[in-house]
Amino acid sequence: MFFRNWRRRRLLARHPLDPQLWAAVCADLPILAGLDAAERQRLGELCLLFLHDKQLSSLPGVELDDSARLYLAAQACLPLLNLPDLDWYQGFRQLLLYPDDFLSPQRHRDEAGVEHVWDDERSGEAWQQGPVILAWPGVQASGTLDGYNLVIHELAHKLDMLNGSANGQPPLHPDMRSDAWAGAMQAAYDRLNAELDRNPDAATAIDPYAAESPAEFFAVASEYFFSAPDLLQDAFPAVYEQLGLLYRQDPRQRLASELSQLHAQASQLMTNETTMPATPDGET
Ligand SMILES: [Zn+2]
Repeated sequence: MFFRNWRRRRLLARHPLDPQLWAAVCADLPILAGLDAAERQRLGELCLLFLHDKQLSSLPGVELDDSARLYLAAQACLPLLNLPDLDWYQGFRQLLLYPDDFLSPQRHRDEAGVEHVWDDERSGEAWQQGPVILAWPGVQASGTLDGYNLVIHELAHKLDMLNGSANGQPPLHPDMRSDAWAGAMQAAYDRLNAELDRNPDAATAIDPYAAESPAEFFAVASEYFFSAPDLLQDAFPAVYEQLGLLYRQDPRQRLASELSQLHAQASQLMTNETTMPATPDGET
């Protein structure tokens, strides 16, 4: 993907994947559960190429050893696992790792021509034609099956930016229909916004941040697609279908046994809560 085939073969021959390290990283990342041995091997090789092609820079406070680099690369490369034909991450070279959330200066001129300037606290940012910035605690909190994945979120913005500014419409494969994509995304985005208009505190099926803009909807939906595919498909089946066509993966099927274990644990917790006796003095 990032290289011509001969360069790729030469690089992989010279820097082979450390099988023990790779197995340890995979074991640490629940979103990789369900990948078969061949897929794991292919993902590992994508990681090596990714780490060779991209420059990872960290600020003091972030320890980037080989294991941490692979942990990050595995999440970055998972969306590209079945997209070998194109250089999907061609739009950037640099990933910057910050030790914590950061303030991003924002500027907006309103309809009256008044310029507003403020600082927004962020855990990640993807610049058009520029680097991806990730706060390390957000990277460390990613990789589980709870719908949050900072790495996939910011890199989804990069895919979106391949054909212009981020607008929730990344380049689609020739066998996909742009009206089907736009229809599925718009309907879900409108439904989420309507729900939040009725009740800003509504317990929405996916993170309400997705209602910020079509670009954020695509990035958040991508996080759920890989890390809570059941929640996404139950709430927005057409969105799940379109993302399946884009990424050429079916994470819900792949993660079926992990997801059913999670559900069993969750319902066990709920049963315990409802059968728990009230504390005698009323304090909890
Ligand atoms: Zn975003």
